[in-house]
Amino acid sequence: MTVGEFVGTLAEKTYLTEETLFFSFSVPDTVAFQAGQYVMITMTRDGLKRVKPYSILNPPSAKGKIDLCVALVLGGFASEIFRALTVGESFTFRGPLGHFLFQEAEQEHWFICVGTGLTPLHSMIQEFVPQYPQKKFVLVFGDKTRPDLLFYDELTEWQKKHTNFTYLPVLSREKWKGKTGYVQQHLPANIQRKIFYICGLKEMVLETQKLLLEKGVDPQKIRMERYT
Ligand SMILES: Cc1cc2nc3c(=O)[nH]c(=O)nc-3n(C[C@H](O)[C@H](O)[C@H](O)COP(=O)(O)OP(=O)(O)OC[C@H]3O[C@@H](n4cnc5c(N)ncnc54)[C@H](O)[C@@H]3O)c2cc1C
Repeated sequence: MTVGEFVGTLAEKTYLTEETLFFSFSVPDTVAFQAGQYVMITMTRDGLKRVKPYSILNPPSAKGKIDLCVALVLGGFASEIFRALTVGESFTFRGPLGHFLFQEAEQEHWFICVGTGLTPLHSMIQEFVPQYPQKKFVLVFGDKTRPDLLFYDELTEWQKKHTNFTYLPVLSREKWKGKTGYVQQHLPANIQRKIFYICGLKEMVLETQKLLLEKGVDPQKIRMERYT
């Protein structure tokens, strides 16, 4: 897919949690990408210009838009711009970029993530779960408390609707009916015929990779996207 520059205009901004924002940018219909890729956004603040990477939340089949899911960091350069952003404002985007891509040949796909690490995997789930009813998809998704779990209702509905999709939410700071602890504690015992996609902050990604390698997973079957 050709990497290019294009303008994205903010069409919708919603708080998903106190710290996490959903953005929908209108972009030309000609913009094409693959599920799992990201864009670089040029941002200017106090005369300083920076270019920041953000994964794409929507599936490629949803054309004419780029949705983002952003965790706000207090005082962060981009975070403060995102916090103040209003509908109608525009940025220059560059992309699509990245090699964190769905491996179609594999039979069983395990997505492991925390917080906004869900973003590129959300794009893959929406694109490929309905497209491949005979493949198996599992999402192990962690956060601190139940209200922190992004798209909880949507993912719960997806599990009911698609028998090839299993949603395993994990809470680290709240007791509930579901799984508790960290996502790394909920990796499958049997690693045969599975590919793993891990996305999020460095520590979680490296720790999960280490555990999977210790279980004997082929390094080629571990795909990673690190946000830091
Ligand atoms: C390929 C790629 C895709 C990404 N996609 C997403 C995405 O979809 N959603 C998303 O929210 N982020 C994503 N990120 C991270 C994002 O690019 C920024 O790093 C993040 O939004 C913080 O930027 P900032 O300018 O607000 O903070 P900065 O001004 O860069 O940093 C401010 C302070 O916050 C710390 N910090 C930086 N990032 C984080 C973080 N994520 N959590 C906690 N502390 C942090 C820094 O160490 C620093 O001390 C992605 C990163 C990469 C490399």
